Amino acid sequence: AAAAAGTGTLRLPPRIHVGYGVRSQIPPLLAEHGSRVFAVVDPFLAGSPHFVELVAAVRAQGADVEVHTDVLPELPVGSLTASGAAARAFAPDVVLAYGGGSSLDAAKLIALLVSHGGALADYYGENNVPGPVLPIVAVPTTAGTGSEVTPVAVISDPDQEMKIGISSPHLVPVAAVVDPELTLGAPPAVTAYAGIDALVHALESFTAAELPIGWGGRLPVFTGQNLFADQLALEAVRRIAPSLARAVADGSDREARAEVAYGSLLAGMSFGPTGTHLSHALQYPIGAITKTPHGLGTGLMIPYVLQACVPVIPERLARIGEALGGVEADPWVAAQDAVDRVAALCRAIGIPLSLAEIGVEHDQLERIADLALRARRLVDISPLGSDRQTLLTILEAAHAGDR
Ligand code: NAD
Repeated sequence: AAAAAGTGTLRLPPRIHVGYGVRSQIPPLLAEHGSRVFAVVDPFLAGSPHFVELVAAVRAQGADVEVHTDVLPELPVGSLTASGAAARAFAPDVVLAYGGGSSLDAAKLIALLVSHGGALADYYGENNVPGPVLPIVAVPTTAGTGSEVTPVAVISDPDQEMKIGISSPHLVPVAAVVDPELTLGAPPAVTAYAGIDALVHALESFTAAELPIGWGGRLPVFTGQNLFADQLALEAVRRIAPSLARAVADGSDREARAEVAYGSLLAGMSFGPTGTHLSHALQYPIGAITKTPHGLGTGLMIPYVLQACVPVIPERLARIGEALGGVEADPWVAAQDAVDRVAALCRAIGIPLSLAEIGVEHDQLERIADLALRARRLVDISPLGSDRQTLLTILEAAHAGDR
């Protein structure tokens, strides 16, 4: 067993910029990789003044830009096949990924299809991408997914009953440019769902199980508890928790927007190598059944998942409580205080309290548990193990709204 210090792995884009105004760095970053730019953006953001200004700046430096706007919510796998073909025909040097997590993930998958061909189903799961993909410069306009720095893209496949991930170190972008200015226009619900998802990334990264590292075979994409990630996750909690409700209530609060954007980036840097666990595994089927956004589902589940963690990893939860501003000395009291603080934040930004509220029927819980157990990369790093009954107990509580 790892003693004292533990183990750590960092896997990040070589270039990361954060702060108001850093979007000015996007044209020169793209130019480092060539002059044919395939820009992936959803139809709404394609018309936004910031994006129009950016494309003009990239063209002004002599680049040939194709703007591709076929980004559908939830990323149905079929739509991406057509996008991949369009990108291949253009023969880009570099992909500009601009928008929320949907656009960033779409861009990763399009880069994958251009570089390696085939069908996305060939790459489902972990470490199935055979080599580097086209360079991706990722520019998030929501503060939440962390996709700009992570090795994963999530799509929906009608054959799978739930969302499915493609995870590979080759999907980590070459550059992430996080300018909070681009998030100022995000409406309250988008801000809340994306922001709570970022907090969940940090919380689940920090509570991930310790995985043994063995000889032979590659390091898994997600390595579980991680020394570097711990620091990033706690700082993400310190940044996001005090500012998220402010950013939701007043989208023009520049300080709150900057804190949540920075926290979301740190959370992504944390969970990229570590992984997330049960809130995410359970959201995949819940999102598919209820057609609710990703962050609504992970935000709804996180208090129940953390509650189940209290008896198992109280010291870890106590450290989260401290990052949330708690002052309890007794670790058990501090652990419960951490869960209560997370639950209170979820309520403050309008996350529903129970699965019943979003239309999940009680008789669907068993099916949800079975589907969640299929998301091995997530379940395998749960600190609670992969016991079906544990998942059902969490789901029962979440259905009733009973913590
Ligand atoms: P999104 O990309 O689906 O966008 C939601 C809506 O917000 C869209 O209508 C979009 O046009 C709008 N929007 C985005 N930015 C805006 C802005 N600045 N101003 C106004 N409107 C804006 O939402 P999301 O929450 O960013 O991403 C969710 C997706 O990300 C899900 O598919 C989820 O599975 C995925 N995800 C990926 C990772 C990863 O590491 N790859 C992690 C978490 C979630």
